[in-house]
Amino acid sequence: MTATTPITQHVLTIPRKLVEGGKTNLVGLTRAQMGQALAAAGTAEKQVKMRVGQVWQWIYYWGIREFDQMTNLAKDYRALLAENFTVELPQVVTRQVSEDGTRKYLVRIAGGHEVEVVYIPETDRGTLCISSQVGCTLTCSFCHTGTQKLVRNLTAGEIVGQVMLARDDLGEWPVKGQPKPDGRLISNVVLMGMGEPLYNFDNVRDAMRVVMDDEGIALGRRRITLSTSGVEPEIARAATEIGCLLAVSFHATTDEIRDRLVPINKKWNIAALLEALRSYPGLSNSERITFEYVMLDHVNDSPEDARRLVELIKGIPAKINLIPFNEWPGAPYKRSSGNRIHAFADIIHNAGYASPIRTPRGEDIMAACGQLKSASEKQRKSAGKAAAAAE
Ligand code: SAH
Ligand code: SF4
Repeated sequence: MTATTPITQHVLTIPRKLVEGGKTNLVGLTRAQMGQALAAAGTAEKQVKMRVGQVWQWIYYWGIREFDQMTNLAKDYRALLAENFTVELPQVVTRQVSEDGTRKYLVRIAGGHEVEVVYIPETDRGTLCISSQVGCTLTCSFCHTGTQKLVRNLTAGEIVGQVMLARDDLGEWPVKGQPKPDGRLISNVVLMGMGEPLYNFDNVRDAMRVVMDDEGIALGRRRITLSTSGVEPEIARAATEIGCLLAVSFHATTDEIRDRLVPINKKWNIAALLEALRSYPGLSNSERITFEYVMLDHVNDSPEDARRLVELIKGIPAKINLIPFNEWPGAPYKRSSGNRIHAFADIIHNAGYASPIRTPRGEDIMAACGQLKSASEKQRKSAGKAAAAAE
């Protein structure tokens, strides 16, 4: 658009929310969307790019939420922002800290829905596990989230907001005048919480672009891992549109068993999935695919399974992450014994693949894979029962 563009064009693009008097949350907007929103609120066309740069830095580099504190903006421009916008995060309802340092946040989003976010500190990294949906449309039989219906997709703002609220809690925003700390508390983000990220692709992509942006949180693309149950047609987009690393919930070596464990396999079976993985753009030894494999006692954990797995993935730069099953009330499976898990890991390791066994973290606060949300629901139910009994 040129400087002579009539102002009425802006009027035509004013988002409905602004016209109706509601304020637009800036969190989660891409740079282009933020530019449109600022222009619609009356920012001069020529200044839009600069304003986006300034506001972006306040929100995502400094972690500032109040327009009043954006001190390099003129007072009346701050007032304009405050009139039209907010910088809002989902609300933290509860925060639990495990004996092992794992933190779990129960977070409330618009509509009163709740998702969970887990922070896992390790010696060489700190991983934040975030959610992409409330519930899940898929029904993997070993996953508690899979027993909950999909309520809705999270917005990009709600996804970015999970990273921001964890940085708040960890005190990770830089402080003016103080030197930048060396390491990062949140060095990695994994989309392994509730939901299937590839079924909410656009919002996940936009959110990750905000998180990766160099002038903000600036997390490198290889610090982000997206885990999918195997939505074959969307897999390549994770590489081309986000550039992140990929993890796949593989979990079985025959279609018969995978159909039972990960029912999306009936739509895109092992062969189709492997083909998509083989052609994952940018795949290399330094950017391997993580195969997640949940260890279910006498279901998928035999030495034959391990050997079949090695055969299936031949030629794919891969790491196999073995996840001891985390049991939940009423779950139809048991965790494999330590002996079976180690025997399985050895076969894969001897075939030349890294095969780490994931240590369950935050078990005392029900923060482990596949347990999310269930605990808070359960607690509420039992609190409800206790209240009823007391009446
Ligand atoms: N929906 C995505 C990402 C979320 S689940 C996916 O399925 O990949 C993150 C990982 O935890 C997945 O590999 C999932 O299969 C695994 N998981 C789910 N429930 C589990 C449980 N009870 N015990 C161990 N791993 C589980
Ligand atoms: Fe959904 Fe992933 Fe759970 Fe399957 S494992 S039900 S895809 S959250």
